[in-house]
This record gives sequence, C-alpha cells and structure tokens, in this order.
Amino acid sequence: FDTAKFGQHILMNPLVAQGLNATLPLTMQQANLKQTDVVLEVGPGTGNLTVRILEQCRKVVAVEMDPRMASEVTKRVLGKPEQRKLELIIGDFVKADLPYFDVCISNTPYQISSPLVFKLLSHRPIIRTAVLMFQREFALRLCATPGSNLWCRLSANVQLFATVEHIMKVGKANFRPPPLVESSVVRMSPKNPPPAVRFEEFDGLNRVVFSRRNKTIRACFQAKGVKDLLEANYKTWCSETGKLLEDGFDFSQYIETILVDSGFGENRAAKMDVADLLKCVRLYPLFGDKAC
Ligand code: SAM
Repeated sequence: FDTAKFGQHILMNPLVAQGLNATLPLTMQQANLKQTDVVLEVGPGTGNLTVRILEQCRKVVAVEMDPRMASEVTKRVLGKPEQRKLELIIGDFVKADLPYFDVCISNTPYQISSPLVFKLLSHRPIIRTAVLMFQREFALRLCATPGSNLWCRLSANVQLFATVEHIMKVGKANFRPPPLVESSVVRMSPKNPPPAVRFEEFDGLNRVVFSRRNKTIRACFQAKGVKDLLEANYKTWCSETGKLLEDGFDFSQYIETILVDSGFGENRAAKMDVADLLKCVRLYPLFGDKAC
C-alpha cells in the first residue's frame, strides 16, 4: 500500500483499539455504545477497529477512500453475521454525503483532521459523541483552555460547539508503519442545542483576534486591513437593513465607542474564553460572511 498517500498507519496494539471502544462506556455515561447505535468510522483501513465496534452496535457506516483497504475490511466480515451490519462507503470522507449515525469512532488520517472535526460538528441530527485519534499537537489544541499556550482559533471554534476532553496518549510504536508524530485520543461531545450564533460570524471574529492573540482587541480591530473590512461589512449590513448613516459618520469613532461600552478594548484573545468571544461577536454586525 502507498501509506504516505492515504496516511495509512494501521493500529497494531489491540489494547488501544479496545481503549478507543472502552473510553466511551468508561468515561461518559451518555456516550456509551448501545446495541442500537449506528457508528460512523472514518478510514477503517484493514478493519482492526471496525470488527471491535461491530460487536457492540447495530450498524457501522465506514467511509474508506482506498478501494484496496475497503476490500480488506469487506473480506474480514464476509460470511459472518457482522456482514449485514457493515455499510461501506468508498470515497473521500470530506466530500461524502453521510447517512444517519449516533457516534463516530475513528483513527483517522491526520491530513483531514480539521475538516473531519467541523464536518462532525455540523452534522444533523447532532451526534451524541465522537472518539477520535489525532496527532498529539492537534489534539492538545482542540482541548486547550484560555490562557494556555495552545489556546487558538481552532480551540475556540470547536469549543463553541462541543465539550472536548483528552482521553489518552498513544505512542508511535502502536502503529505500522510508525508515524513521525505522537498521537492522542480525544472525545468530542457536541452541545445540544448548539449556541445560537452563525459559525461564519464567530469564526470571522476569531480570525481577526487570534491572528494577533496577545494584542488587545482594540489593536486587532484597528489594524489597517481589518478596519477596512469591518467598515465594509458594517456598511453592507446598514444598507441591507435600511439603517441610514449620518453625514460625516466616522467608523473609527464608532468602533471606539463599541470597545469602550463593551469593555472588550483591553482584552486579548489569548485569555478570552468562548463566552467572552460570543459576547464580543454579538455586540455589533461586523463579522458577516465576507469578514476577513
Ligand atoms: N482505522 C485504521 C486503523 O486504526 O488501523 C486505519 C487508519 S489509517 C491512519 C487511515 C485510513 O484512512 C486509511 O485506511 C486511509 O486509506 C483512509 N483515508 C485516508 N484519507 C481518507 C479520506 N479522505 N476519506 C476516507 N478515508 C481516508
């Protein structure tokens, strides 16, 4: 197999495979796999994890991009009762239309980590939980807390929609061939109902404030390119909603009033939590789809 092309590092240590399953019932009651569950697996590879998941649920939907790997998984269940419980979708997970599923369990190719997370979070109906293996650094950024070194746009965007926990570290030696990086398993449990904010607006704010995470919000908003974009967004919003701007309207003054009234002017993204960022994005219509 061309392992580099598809990120194919097969999980050899059965304890980790068991661990991935076991973390569900062990650590979060709501997430424990039920016999009635439909489980999504992304990149089943040769099916080491798939066969274990199949023992514990009603159905597995597995999305595999490499047809040779897909036929390996198929062979493993051929003629067994599990065969009926496995639905295999051959194709790119990022582009695939997903059917209904309750839970996602996956040792995924790390090159699709970010699209995977956001595809799972935007899936409807909202899934119960996802237990996922990622590159250690990516996993730690998902779980990072405000004020820590790893707190970033990714942490805030994901934690807006989900509770994320670091479950365990998995060393390189557990894979064949060993990857270059260390791995970690995280559990991501979407908030249900989701917060009432448009993701594009929240992410628009985060792009601005995390690009200079140790600078004040005032400095971020007043940076040249940013201020022009915010002004353009605000004026578009005014014309769309019929709000008339006074003659001589001064956008810099307008922004300054917002920052002073809200008290956010001296804050820094590095230390703002999701609740602060939510308050900040809800202040004024500055972060539309076209923002930044
Ligand atoms: N889950 C298996 C295991 O734990 O042993 C294999 C994991 S391997 C890291 C990743 C698998 O994802 C490979 O089988 C690879 O072919 C598949 N893959 C890579 N990119 C993919 C994509 N975009 N969509 C679906 N599968 C993909």
